[in-house]
Amino acid sequence: MASILIAEDEARISGFIEKGLRSAGFATRVAAAGPLALELAQSDEFDLMVLDVNLPGMDGFAVLEHLRGGGSRMPVIILTARVELHDTVAGLEGGADDYLGKPFRFDELLARIRLRMRRDDDTGSLAALSHRDLTLDVRTREARLDGRRVELSSREFALAEEFVRNAGQVLSREQLLSRVWGYDFDPGSNVADVYVGYLRQKLGSDRIETVRGAGYRLV
Ligand code: CA
Repeated sequence: MASILIAEDEARISGFIEKGLRSAGFATRVAAAGPLALELAQSDEFDLMVLDVNLPGMDGFAVLEHLRGGGSRMPVIILTARVELHDTVAGLEGGADDYLGKPFRFDELLARIRLRMRRDDDTGSLAALSHRDLTLDVRTREARLDGRRVELSSREFALAEEFVRNAGQVLSREQLLSRVWGYDFDPGSNVADVYVGYLRQKLGSDRIETVRGAGYRLV
C-alpha cells in the first residue's frame, strides 16, 4: 500500500485529504508543523508528500529545500492559497513536482497524486477497479460496461469510483459531497442526487439503489 504524508496544519483540510486518500486505498499520516513534516519526509516511509506552504515552525518552501538538499527525490505536491501562486512558481523551481491552489477538489488532488506515483513507480494495483460488469481505469479515466466504453465526465467518473470502492455500503449525500465535490461544498446541495441520476442513465437504473433517509448504495 502506498503511503502519503500530509503536511497541513488546518485540521479541516488534512482530515478531508486523509479521509479521501484512505478511501482511495492509500495509507496516510498527517504532520501539522514544518519540522515534523521534514523529519517524517526524511524517514523514507512515504511515497509522496502533500505539502502546505503556510505551516508553523518552518514553511513548506523551507521543508522542501531541506528535503531536496538532503538528496531526497520523493514526489512533492504543494498546496497553496491562490494568492500565493506567485511564490509557488518559486516552489516549483525549488524542487516541487506539482502544485494545487486552495480551495481544491479532492478528485484534482487524487489525479495529481496518481500521476506522480505512476511516474515514480508502478502502482498497478491501483489502476483498475471493477464491480460486476463495470470497469473503471483510474489512470485513463475510462469506464467500460460489459467491455463497451461509456463516456463519463470527470465528476461522474469520480462519483462512480467512490461507489465502486465502497460497493455494497450506503454512502450518504454528505459523504459523496465531501469526497467528490470537496471540502467547501454546500451541505444543502442536491448536486450529488443529480449526478447519481446521470450515472443511473449511463450505467443502468438499477445499479445504484436509493436507501431512504440514508443515501445511496452500489448493488
Ligand atoms: Ca496552513
